[in-house]
Amino acid sequence: MKNSGNNNTIPVYIPTALQRFVGQEETIRVTGRTVGEALKDLVRQHEALEPHLYEEEGKLRSFVNVFVNDEDIRHAQGLQTALKETDALTIVPSIAGGADEPVNLSHDEIKRYSRHLIMPEVGVEGQKKLKAASMLLIGTGGLGSPLGLYLASAGVGRIGLVDFDVVDFTNLQRQVLYTTQDVGKPKLQAAKERLQAINPHIRIETHEVRLSSENAMEIIKNYDIVIDGTDNFPTRYLVNDACVLTGKPNVYGSIFRFEGQASVFDAKRGPCYRCLYPEPPPPGLVPSCAEGGVLGILPGIIGTIQATEGIKLILGNGEPLIGRLLLFNALKMRFRELKLKKNPDCPLCGPNPSIRKLIDYEEFCGLRRGEETPAAAPQANGVQEISAPELKKLLSEKANITLIDVREAHEYEICHIEGARLIPSSEFARRMSELDSADEMVLYCHKGMRSRKAAELLKSAGFKKIKSLAGGVDAWAEEVDPGMPRY
Ligand SMILES: [Zn+2]
Repeated sequence: MKNSGNNNTIPVYIPTALQRFVGQEETIRVTGRTVGEALKDLVRQHEALEPHLYEEEGKLRSFVNVFVNDEDIRHAQGLQTALKETDALTIVPSIAGGADEPVNLSHDEIKRYSRHLIMPEVGVEGQKKLKAASMLLIGTGGLGSPLGLYLASAGVGRIGLVDFDVVDFTNLQRQVLYTTQDVGKPKLQAAKERLQAINPHIRIETHEVRLSSENAMEIIKNYDIVIDGTDNFPTRYLVNDACVLTGKPNVYGSIFRFEGQASVFDAKRGPCYRCLYPEPPPPGLVPSCAEGGVLGILPGIIGTIQATEGIKLILGNGEPLIGRLLLFNALKMRFRELKLKKNPDCPLCGPNPSIRKLIDYEEFCGLRRGEETPAAAPQANGVQEISAPELKKLLSEKANITLIDVREAHEYEICHIEGARLIPSSEFARRMSELDSADEMVLYCHKGMRSRKAAELLKSAGFKKIKSLAGGVDAWAEEVDPGMPRY
């Protein structure tokens, strides 16, 4: 087909950020002999695009770059650059870091955020900052739930979610993003649906991966602020290190039973997590929420504190929790605050860092099994494990097996294996003398960690006929006694 006159019909590739002004099209065909004419034709077809490409006096905006094939027109004749029939135009607006695409609030958004807009501390400018901002939530569990709900409601324009779990019944006591119907669904799928239903004006990006040294930098670099809602030490150090290395603020929160902590680690302005805790605790010393429990409301309180800090960082308002560690005790209903100082010898954020890239965090936290890390050494004295079906067989064959439950009394009350004697691990060292080293014994706990530790203790005291139930009472319930409640 012949083009009319001297005009060429060529494609213009529209960047994602601008596709909403052209009916979500990726490519628009335009006519023009020069780049200037082609772009004029583009905004003639899609008027909504004009203010995003041109300044009032008709000049191309400084943050809009235009390429003819792979050449920047600034290195050619600018808008006068001639076009051939086979050429293609690409519009590349600068994103994150440079001057951002100007954001505007629609009428719907103005109504939605009106309680923000009438506050001088937020106002239209602040709301636009929120809309232009991006935050990455690492973990969509107890902390991630209130974080997601409030940040989405508040209008944070782009929210990234990192998680790889599925919703479990035991999550529902505190992970308020999810409903009973979500049980069994991938968390990110349920979370995205819920958050998008709350606020269709924002973008939810999902990263269904386990955050690792291999992917953390790639994911984190695309966001303004990182919010740490993780529940384990390796990921906490990984998040901290990746944030320091990419220069992102890290809004920290942690919870255990009825106590919580929060802070903002921003190495440019204050200490990092390593300044506070240079080394992780040895494995097993600090129990996880799965072992120690957590008051369901607690992540709601700490998570909303983190959300508040994240929003303050974007608005650039108020006093952030930089250099301060906030401690909260729900039982006493008391907040305390500790001053945190930057460690001048911090191996990560100090002036002479020894850590310049991400490391192996499982190993750093002493969790790499079967390797000769010092923390793994105590397991080397070889406590024998027994599976749940093997234990059932053993109990049916031999009458004189001493079964010892090393969980706490309140856990024993939830469920226990018949005939088990309760000696909580917290009292174990003191009460070991009640046991006879001549007896054949099997120890168990909830998931197998505490009983292994207790068995190691017996072993070092000279006991020989001891085994630990692999997977604990939970494995027993799953594999042997389906009638037993699980927690
Ligand atoms: Zn540091």
